[in-house]
Amino acid sequence: NKAVHVISRPEGMVSVDNFAVVEVDEPTAPTAEAPVQLKLEHVSVDPYMRGRMRDAKSYIPPFALGEPGAGGVVARVVAVADDGETAGLAAGDLVVGMLPWVLRQNARPDGLTKVDEAVLGGASSSLLLGVLGLTGLTALLPIEKFSQPEAGKVAFVSGAAGAVGSVAGAVLKAKGCTVYGSAGSDEKCAIAQADCGFDAVFNYKTVGSPGEGLDSVLDGKAIDIYYDNVGGEMLDAVLARMAPNGVIICCGAISQYNKKPEELYGLKNYFNIIGRSLSVHGFIVTNWANEFPAAIGRLAGMLQAGQIPVKETVREGFESVPAAFVDLFKGANVGKMIVSKL
Ligand code: NDP
Repeated sequence: NKAVHVISRPEGMVSVDNFAVVEVDEPTAPTAEAPVQLKLEHVSVDPYMRGRMRDAKSYIPPFALGEPGAGGVVARVVAVADDGETAGLAAGDLVVGMLPWVLRQNARPDGLTKVDEAVLGGASSSLLLGVLGLTGLTALLPIEKFSQPEAGKVAFVSGAAGAVGSVAGAVLKAKGCTVYGSAGSDEKCAIAQADCGFDAVFNYKTVGSPGEGLDSVLDGKAIDIYYDNVGGEMLDAVLARMAPNGVIICCGAISQYNKKPEELYGLKNYFNIIGRSLSVHGFIVTNWANEFPAAIGRLAGMLQAGQIPVKETVREGFESVPAAFVDLFKGANVGKMIVSKL
C-alpha cells in the first residue's frame, strides 16, 4: 500500500521534494470505527492545496508534516464491516469525497457521496472531480449568484484553459456574453477558442503586459464580468478596464500562491472599485454544499447539450500525485488535472 506524505513546507515555489511517496501497511479488515474499505481510483490535485502547505490559519487547516496530503477523490468501496454503520454503502459502490492520499484505506462513511454511475453515461468517473464535481460547481455557482450574464455583456476569464476557467468561459458564452480570456500558451489559447466558447484568448506570457493583452482582445470595449482565477497584475489591469457597475468574481489568485509575503502584488487600480461602482465577490465553493446536487444536475444538462467542454489532463500512477500538483503551477495542464490508473 502507498501514501503521499507532505514532508516539508515550501518557501516560494512548491516542489516535488516537499512530498514523499511512502510504503504503508495494507488496511486491516474494516472495523466499526472505520467501516468502509476503499481503493482510490482518481485523485484531484488543486491549486488551493498550496495554501494547505503553509503553516497559517485559513479557511481550511494546514497539512501536517509527515502525514498524508488529502483532497478530492473518486474511490471504489472494496469491503464494508459487518457490524459497522456504512450509510448504505456496499462493496462495489463508487463514491466521491475528500480523503487522505492513501491508496487503500478504511474510512467513515460521512462525507462520502455514493455515485449513480448511470449519470456518467459511460464517461470516465474522473468527471466527478471536474465538470460534474467541484470544478464545474466553482465555475457555475458564482456566475449564477453574482452576475447577470446576458447577450450584449462582455466577460473576461483568466486561466481560460484551466479546469475552472474553461467551464466558466463556456457557461458565460452559453448565457449570451461575448467572452474573452487569457492563458499561458498559444496552444491553450487555441483550445479555449475552439472548444470552450471563448471569442478571443491572448497568451499572457508573450504579450508585453496584461494591459496590452487585454487591449488586443477588447478593442476598446469595457468588461462587465471578470471571472478571476489568477489575481495579481492581471486583476490590476482588468480593474482599469471594467465597465461601470461591473462585477468581479474572485475565484482564485494563483499568480500569488507561490510568492513570499514581501513579493505579493499590490493593486494600483483599487480605487476603480469605488469610482466605477464595481461589485467584488469572493467565495469558497464548499460553503454552498447544500446547493451541489441541483447544480450538478444543471451542469449535467449543459454537458449533454454540448454547452460545456470536458477538458482533462490525466497523469497515471499514484506516485504521480506530487508532480501533477506541482505542474499546476507550471501551467502543464489543459482543463482538470487528474491522477488516474492508481
Ligand atoms: P487550473 O486547471 O486553472 O490550473 C492552474 C493553471 O493556472 C495552470 O494551468 C496555469 O495556466 C495557471 N497558472 C499557474 N501559475 C500561474 C501564474 N503565476 N499566473 C497566471 N496563471 C498561472 O486550476 P483550477 O481550475 O483548479 O483553479 C483555478 C483557480 O480557481 C485557482 O486560483 C484556484 O485556487 C481557484 N479555485 C477556487 C475555488 C473557490 O472555491 N474559490 C475552488 C476551486 C478553485 P496557464 O498556462 O494559463 O498559466
